Amino acid sequence: MGPEKKSSLREKAKQVPSRPGIYFFLNKSQQIIYIGRARNLRDRLRSYFLPTSDLKVHSILAEATDLDYLVTDTEKDAAFLENNFIRRFQPKFNLRLKDDKSFPMVKINLTDDYPSIGLTRRVKADGARYFGPFHPAHQARKTIDLIAKYFHLRTCSGALPKGRKRPCLEYDLGMCSAPCVKLISKEEYQENVQNALLFLEGKSHLLLPILEKKMKEAAQELEFELAAHWRDLIQTVKSLQQKPKTSFPSAINADLLGWAKIGSSSSLFAFFLRQGKVVESAHQVFEQNSLVDNEEDAFFHLFQSLYSARQDIAEKIHLSLPLKNKKILVDYLWQTKKKKVRIISAHHGKYQGLLRLANLNAEIELKKRKTIPDSLISLATTLQLPSPPRWIEAFDISTTGGVENVGALVVFENGQPLKSEYRRFRISSHSGPNDLASLQEVLSRRYSRLIREKKQLPDLILVDGGKGQLRVAQSVLSSLEISSIPVVALAKKKETIYRDLDHEGLNLDPTSPALKLLQWIRDEVHRFAITFHRKRRAKQSFSSLLDDIPGIGRRRKALLLQNYSDLTSLRQANFDEVAHLIGRPAATNLFARLQSSVSSSEKRDN
Ligand code: SF4
Repeated sequence: MGPEKKSSLREKAKQVPSRPGIYFFLNKSQQIIYIGRARNLRDRLRSYFLPTSDLKVHSILAEATDLDYLVTDTEKDAAFLENNFIRRFQPKFNLRLKDDKSFPMVKINLTDDYPSIGLTRRVKADGARYFGPFHPAHQARKTIDLIAKYFHLRTCSGALPKGRKRPCLEYDLGMCSAPCVKLISKEEYQENVQNALLFLEGKSHLLLPILEKKMKEAAQELEFELAAHWRDLIQTVKSLQQKPKTSFPSAINADLLGWAKIGSSSSLFAFFLRQGKVVESAHQVFEQNSLVDNEEDAFFHLFQSLYSARQDIAEKIHLSLPLKNKKILVDYLWQTKKKKVRIISAHHGKYQGLLRLANLNAEIELKKRKTIPDSLISLATTLQLPSPPRWIEAFDISTTGGVENVGALVVFENGQPLKSEYRRFRISSHSGPNDLASLQEVLSRRYSRLIREKKQLPDLILVDGGKGQLRVAQSVLSSLEISSIPVVALAKKKETIYRDLDHEGLNLDPTSPALKLLQWIRDEVHRFAITFHRKRRAKQSFSSLLDDIPGIGRRRKALLLQNYSDLTSLRQANFDEVAHLIGRPAATNLFARLQSSVSSSEKRDN
């Protein structure tokens, strides 16, 4: 990381709130490379920029180009989030936790006549009750020991052992009532189970006075060991009272959406709860305009932006905002994703804590935007824009001799790539090499759609190229009667910026933050276009290879294209797997064709 980038991250770290939460370091492709947690986010992040001999810190900072964070109420909540997010995103510098198991839970198997108590890391819908997760992890083991000691539930796993003549050591240690040799009746054992459940459910207002009395009595009778045991139990009951907001002890899937509004800006912040754990978060920010000027419409726009690029959608979506028209959200997900959902508005049950946290993070996202990066201020000054362009859209076209023409769009929000808004276009209006016509089609499709859907228009459009590309972009906007969006073209050869058709291009100092930002955006859209183009070509040659193979008609070809992304993945597949999909005779013909295509390409290479 260069000194400029480091100083911009240091500045960013100073703006972070002094609250518990988790933080992320991101690389130039906006991939998360490290996730950490902190009791005080600001102090923790600032400490990264103090002199240190810690190699890990140096390695993270060498690669990081951005940092981000989200806040929680307690460090314990942050610990659970950190663990879940690391497992989901597998950041390269979190090697320590990558393969770690999740936090443990206590399980009581209620389907058994004599339920056992044990430790697990996986919640299943199997009729058992689960408690936790526990942080630190040793609290789970301690809790099981306490339940065994005070409520005498068995800890042997599986079904109740049969045919035993005498109980095991657990009974001798006073840790089990030995139902295996019928030293306790079923009714009495069930009563102990109910008491243990009360304890685990944290009905502390009933339980704590009794336990405190027992502890005092034991101490008065000089039974200090017993008093210490009651003390431990009291501590565990108290720790169970502080349930984390970010993990639930059951296999729940839900999307929880928080909402905030400051002035004309509104923000949506989502926690995605999967199998009872928050495994991901996302946010969207929207600037109200003359087309969208009420809260419900703004919410709908944010909702659309959030879900348009998302496949993993829960069946229940909880909102912190009491919306009048929830049906519009349900219809949108049904029409665009064929997903049936239930929208639950202004929920006050078990998700209240997490929804409040989502609201708080939505508000913080709005506050983050108040900090304008230097590069945007420099760009606004250089291009004489009315305000720093917080939302920039950039376009590029990729083709090889007019075969498989594609277009790409990338979005930079507040000077950073916003990958959820990236879009790809297959050119359909013409064939053959014609970059300008392709650009015209892509721009027309993009902006006529934004107008149709009443969506936010960008603050600046960047096209890769010179005056020709600038002319096309301006004429598309004018045909759509859009006069408010400035357009610039950046030509590669001398990095000349064209803003106006009637004037010469502008050549900035190579160290200018404005030029560096434009180059970054141009290179990013170029990379995105080329990647898409290569994929399309690979798919095309894969598709043609499947033509004219005996036994492979339209249906089998479609099955192969659905299951294998390209020729390489098909070549790596084993014969039985493919035969299972399309039948043995067709698979035999296919493998023969694959073999002959390898032989002929080898001959060509020789
Ligand atoms: S005494 Fe019997 S029921 Fe209790 S833990 Fe041992 S084997 Fe299991």
